[in-house]
Amino acid sequence: MPYRTIIEPFRIHSVQAIDLTDRATRQAALERAGYNLFGLRAEEVTIDLLTDSGTGAMSAQQWAGMMLGDESYAGSRSFYRFEDTVQTITGLAEVIPTHQGRAAERILFTTMVSAGDVVPNNTHFDTTRANVEFQGAEARDLVIAAGLDPALLHPFKGNMDVDALVATIEEVGVDRVPLVMVTVTNNSGGGQPVSMANLRAVRAVCDRYGIPFFLDACRFAENSWFIKIREEGYADKTPREIALEMFSLADGCTMSAKKDGMSNIGGFLAMNDPNLALKCRNLLILTEGFPTYGGLAGYDLEAIAQGLNEALEENYLQYRIRSTEYLAEKVSSAGLPIVLPAGGHAVYLDAAALLPHIPASRYPAQALAVELYLDGGVRGVEIGSVMFGKPQPDGSEVPASMELVRLAVPRRTYTQSHIDYVGEVMIDVAERAGEIRGLRITEQAPWLRHFTARFEPV
Ligand SMILES: *Cc1c(COP(=O)(O)O)cnc(C)c1O
Repeated sequence: MPYRTIIEPFRIHSVQAIDLTDRATRQAALERAGYNLFGLRAEEVTIDLLTDSGTGAMSAQQWAGMMLGDESYAGSRSFYRFEDTVQTITGLAEVIPTHQGRAAERILFTTMVSAGDVVPNNTHFDTTRANVEFQGAEARDLVIAAGLDPALLHPFKGNMDVDALVATIEEVGVDRVPLVMVTVTNNSGGGQPVSMANLRAVRAVCDRYGIPFFLDACRFAENSWFIKIREEGYADKTPREIALEMFSLADGCTMSAKKDGMSNIGGFLAMNDPNLALKCRNLLILTEGFPTYGGLAGYDLEAIAQGLNEALEENYLQYRIRSTEYLAEKVSSAGLPIVLPAGGHAVYLDAAALLPHIPASRYPAQALAVELYLDGGVRGVEIGSVMFGKPQPDGSEVPASMELVRLAVPRRTYTQSHIDYVGEVMIDVAERAGEIRGLRITEQAPWLRHFTARFEPV
């Protein structure tokens, strides 16, 4: 096939200036923020790869749709457009809007999960884990072994270990497993996809034990694309057809519209069971709002409805997946250890491999994320022992299974030269890896500590 660059399938319509800072300014910003990149102000960041959540550029069609927003408290036209779109894409009957993914999680788990239960997932996302644990239940990660080996190539490293799932159900008893979840793509496990065959196998186990199966569907469109290009039998199917097949295997889903909803805010909970939906709607009214807006403005519902359709366009998905793969190729060919293959929405640097002189107790991935910022104003996020380490009564910590720095690429926001620059910063920092020092925590919250903890260099 002749080589042609896969171009951004859009042109830029309005722009926002990027602030270029110097190293001294960045050093001062780090000290003020307690070496926590969540504490930085946006103008202190040059390329912001903290998250792909709500940070993407909306299309002209989405902005135009927002002008059609119907702000009726009950029965808004925008809700029915949103509901129809979600039903068409997922095939799920009951659609409950929420202000974000975590609100959908909290409502679902409050309704379904009790203290002492165990919720299996391939890998729980941080808010998902926290919301399960907040109910007094255990969030158990059961990704396949290949999913925990950063350098190992495997087309579907997000797959759930189906034998481990069966073993968990047998061990704790069916009554204590209120639902099984699978995250597509597996965000905390390197943005790796889950195959249709694996989803089908999980469905079969859930059927055998009579346990409901929910998708954490935040990146369902990216997962559909990976199935199309990597799984036998799907090359000729459209991402839309593949998405529908994925959802048809589940009883429901939680969704953050800030990801493949291509919107700046929003989410939803969807399911087939009308009785469960009734309970969820009652809780929704308590904290989010009336069921036809769920904490969102009518114009947000319009933006999400349009965004969900755009996320399934083939040209968009081809560009999207290529743009992360491009960064991965650039740094991996320079010898940097990353999670391979590239994730859908992000490149994950393996800090444990790059900084073997820093033990998990000194947070190598946090130290590396800080260094990427200091060197080039690039903001990523630690996904390691700061996020998932478990403090013990004696003051020690059980470390996370991997020490990663995630560089998440916002949708339709940065150009190829921005990404080239990021690769250059990563390569420069890696060349001086031996000089990077670890960090210790000086302040932390009882849960989701990574958002607000303060650190100092050791
Ligand atoms: C972002 C995300 C969530 C939570 O969604 P919010 O909109 O940030 O509350 C849950 N699961 C996964 C996999 C995510 O990526």
